[in-house]
Amino acid sequence: MNNKFPEFVWLNNFGLSCLLTFLLLGLFLGLVGLSWVFNSFLILVALIFIAPAIILWRIRWWLQRDLVEDECPVCSYGFTGFNKTEGQCPNCGEPVKIEGGHFHRVIPPDTIDIDAVEVSVNQLED
Ligand SMILES: [Zn+2]
Repeated sequence: MNNKFPEFVWLNNFGLSCLLTFLLLGLFLGLVGLSWVFNSFLILVALIFIAPAIILWRIRWWLQRDLVEDECPVCSYGFTGFNKTEGQCPNCGEPVKIEGGHFHRVIPPDTIDIDAVEVSVNQLED
């Protein structure tokens, strides 16, 4: 008996009866001339299943566009942040501004940013 319908093995009793009811309802509506009800119901079901996939895909696209993965300008620690926001480096605590896909240091207005230059002793003695 069980081997007679091997293709229905994946369906449990509930799923099978559900599917049969669905098919009978479809046939009945088709006979009565209300197949458009059945069709619109099918479209609705399809939308219910497709809509979350589209929304998830959209959210992923949005996240990928706004997520910026770069290195801290101070300690070169790699981390991720949202574009056009300000954050803090989780490694050294330096406030960083995320703009144009890169992390920039947040420099207070009165600060003069300089680069330290290493001068060798020999150069000074000359
Ligand atoms: Zn850092």
